Amino acid sequence: MDVFLGQDQQISTDKKLKDIIYALNQSSIVAITDPAGRIFYSNKKFTEISQYQPEELLGNTHRMINSGHHPKNFFKDMWTTIHRGETWQGEIKNRKKDGSFYWVYTTIVPFLDDNGQPYQYVSIRRDISDRKDAEEMIRNLAYNDQLTELPNLLSFRRKLYQQFNDAKRDQQKFALVSMNIDRLRFVNDSYGHEVGDFILSVVAERLKDALPAQHIISRVSGDEFAVVLKDIADVDEAEQITKDIKEILTKPIEFESQSLTISLSFGIAIYPDHARKTSELTTKAEKALLEVKKRGGNGYEIYHPDISIKSFERILMENELKKSIELGHFSLDYQPKFDLTTRNMTSLEALVRWNHPELGRIPPDQFIRVAEETKMIIPLGTWIFREACLQVVNWIKKGFYYQVAVNVSAVQLEDPAFLSIIKKVLEETGVPKELIQLELTESAFGNQIHMKEVIVELRSMGITIAIDDFGTGYSSFSYIKELPADTLKIDITFIRDIHQNSESRAIVKAILAVATAVGLTVVAEGIEQEEQLIILQEMGCKEGQGYYYSKPTSSTECENFMKPSNLC
Ligand code: C2E
Ligand code: CA
Ligand code: CA
Repeated sequence: MDVFLGQDQQISTDKKLKDIIYALNQSSIVAITDPAGRIFYSNKKFTEISQYQPEELLGNTHRMINSGHHPKNFFKDMWTTIHRGETWQGEIKNRKKDGSFYWVYTTIVPFLDDNGQPYQYVSIRRDISDRKDAEEMIRNLAYNDQLTELPNLLSFRRKLYQQFNDAKRDQQKFALVSMNIDRLRFVNDSYGHEVGDFILSVVAERLKDALPAQHIISRVSGDEFAVVLKDIADVDEAEQITKDIKEILTKPIEFESQSLTISLSFGIAIYPDHARKTSELTTKAEKALLEVKKRGGNGYEIYHPDISIKSFERILMENELKKSIELGHFSLDYQPKFDLTTRNMTSLEALVRWNHPELGRIPPDQFIRVAEETKMIIPLGTWIFREACLQVVNWIKKGFYYQVAVNVSAVQLEDPAFLSIIKKVLEETGVPKELIQLELTESAFGNQIHMKEVIVELRSMGITIAIDDFGTGYSSFSYIKELPADTLKIDITFIRDIHQNSESRAIVKAILAVATAVGLTVVAEGIEQEEQLIILQEMGCKEGQGYYYSKPTSSTECENFMKPSNLC
């Protein structure tokens, strides 16, 4: 029941109703129809958004703004509900007079006569086009590589899985070709990222032109592509197509009056000759590719069992890593995060450093992957987590009350003992739970169903969760909506050129819109320049991290950014 209090009693009901209608007209798109759905009232907002004049709308039904997007059942269900005298709510895509579309969140309220029959329907709509556009953009972002417009890794995995089922059913052979541009990193470092990006887009274009549409082409990571050659007769055919592709792709690339020549490496694995499972086939194509890389690149290799032998460097790296974990040759640096408006430090992120006694400092990019593949990340990750908790406790003793985020690898999350390890360390160190955040990369959300349960459990312990490197293409937007995370960290690649690239700006804007709508805090990673900061601020991004503020540094150095708290 609606209630009016106090002074309202002196105001006539008529006036109150007029006020309510006024307020409604200011905020919503309103239409009233008769039982047959013919419009006999439309407000100004309705005419504005639909681009139809009132006289065009009145006497007509909503069919004139029907976009054709929804299946017939959608409106049938709607009519059944309102005929019964019940309110209906839902999201509808409509068409404007000029043919363009808009989305509205619609509530239809039936009004009943003395016999319980609807005599009119009042529909109240809210324009949600901006949110829908943002969602669409992120969905596109989740499944397509933005630079080459090719399907990304997530999308590729799905297509490969489908291909397996098809090939099994039709008893056909197919080839998986893993393809890497040699030394692209060198090109990026010496000529700049624009040149690297240009090469990637040319390679993608040439691949699309060279291969018939039935094959699958995808950009699966920075400098790596994957191709599925469907329905091949034998290994020889796959080899011949790879040779042809190689020739086309290594033709000189013209960039601003320079002629660039690239070389490429290819690894080939065949279904069902080499593997009968998707993951196995992928690993084998990768192994063949690695074999070419070991020889210095610029060639191709077909999988054969001898390839499995590990390289000398790899064995050395694994041994050294094992020793260093036992001997504790690791330390943590911390990179602060800042409030973009006040420029105060808000919290920090712990980043591991390997201090090898002879080889010096080895960056995480070079050893985390090996640690993951050998599962050594599990003991190392436990050490990192404990060390970060102890640092928080130490800071509290000094009067500094700041949250620290710890990176967690997908391999750790899959470990059945993970939750109990976290619980144990939290108890042993006595760290306040609200001062611990775990950063999980999007790839961790891949296919694992139990991930959601782990996250729910972690949050029930009082820990918060951040999704790291968001937008790098491995995530599906639906995960973001479903996962009970707290923070979303926009990947550095979108921030790097945000001041120069309108597409990056649009993507960041869309991420901010959707994250805000679902109540996630957003942190922009990798801010290096004032111009990037200004744009982010204008877009309403509240928090950021990057060299502009501070590089990752020692715990003592970080104290210069801290202010004592009376919470300690
Ligand atoms: P990440 O979690 O995305 O960490 C951010 C990386 O970006 C750090 O590199 C940081 O130094 C760098 N960075 C921060 N601001 C800027 C900037 O303004 N410009 C540029 N160019 N770079 C910036 P770092 O420390 O080398 O770590 C690389 C990656 O290694 C991390 O990426 C994370 O995926 C992994 N990693 C680091 N520490 C850990 C750890 O303790 N556990 C696990 N599992 N992974 C870790
Ligand atoms: Ca991180
Ligand atoms: Ca990151």
